[in-house]
Amino acid sequence: MDFDSHTSGVVAATVALVNALTPGHARGREHAPSAAEMLSSAREALGAVGDERPVQGDVDDLAAAAGRLRVVFEHVEAGDMDAACRHVNGLLRETRAAPELSRHGDGPWHLHFHTPDADFVPSWEAPMATSLAVVLGNPYADRLGVCSAPACDRVYVDTSRNGTRRFCGTTCQNRVKAAQFRNRRAAGSG
Ligand SMILES: [Zn+2]
Repeated sequence: MDFDSHTSGVVAATVALVNALTPGHARGREHAPSAAEMLSSAREALGAVGDERPVQGDVDDLAAAAGRLRVVFEHVEAGDMDAACRHVNGLLRETRAAPELSRHGDGPWHLHFHTPDADFVPSWEAPMATSLAVVLGNPYADRLGVCSAPACDRVYVDTSRNGTRRFCGTTCQNRVKAAQFRNRRAAGSG
């Protein structure tokens, strides 16, 4: 399933950024990355190459943005679409998200969701908030979620055909399956 290829890419980057930069639990362990770890995973999430930002000095602001974006997934997971949509509307206003077609040199025109003079963090947060708005504004709105495995609160977007995903990834899916298997075996032998 594809919302549209650009939006899907930005939703995926949003998930990666939230999971990299928000503290909590990941796949059964505490998630409390160091500043250096946060920078390297943020660069990966945003596809930064060479001397492109983010740099270490961007990490605190990016982490704050990730925390604001994370709230959307939490509201959807709790079944509170009203709160999710109102929160996204707030982010769209705060980041001054605005569609604008632009091109670099002779390259193809493409759609940006931030003003050309936006600072670095809003230049990401605005399109990320927009991508979540696109998801929330269509029938697949409930496909944002928070992992339901024990000791994990990483977020995900479910792009599967049937939309039955409950975990952040196969690690947590396998952890839960293994625990269920152990429980059944313990119950059977008891
Ligand atoms: Zn998980």
